[in-house]
Amino acid sequence: MIQHEAWTRTIRLCKGLSDDRIRKAYTTYFRDSGDRAIKQRRGKSPRQISLFVKTPPHQLKATTLIALFCNNLLLRADTTSKVYAHWPRTDVEYGHRVCRAFETYQILHPAAALNFEWAWNLLRSIVRNDELYLAVCRRCWSKYVQDAYALDRRICPSCSLSGKPH
Ligand SMILES: [Zn+2]
Repeated sequence: MIQHEAWTRTIRLCKGLSDDRIRKAYTTYFRDSGDRAIKQRRGKSPRQISLFVKTPPHQLKATTLIALFCNNLLLRADTTSKVYAHWPRTDVEYGHRVCRAFETYQILHPAAALNFEWAWNLLRSIVRNDELYLAVCRRCWSKYVQDAYALDRRICPSCSLSGKPH
């Protein structure tokens, strides 16, 4: 999580890591990696949802992350596309799984629009089932991340980006 420039508050949410242990992890990481470009971020994590839905490419990236979170058993979607938190607690294993999902996302989307904190925010936002939800495409039946308050044409980002007439 340090390597992904996660905010200290986010790391602290993963139970089992005391402030002291996080500080030591930072010290060890910087000493061993020699990477001074990594920032230790403090304060509040970003909270708006607009970045996940502002364009079809953003929606596609957010949808990829949701699928990876499901693969890593952090989320599950029921038959009505309602999304639930699946992992029982925010522990160290939870943090590992978020990192794994995020690293796979970076491989799939080299020009990743969402950094680690945004990915974390997406994971926490989608389970509230209020501002974000999983819509179903009327053309290919895929699920995709959508803004609950936006006009939904029911076209997923992949179909939208394929350029075929709707
Ligand atoms: Zn589609």
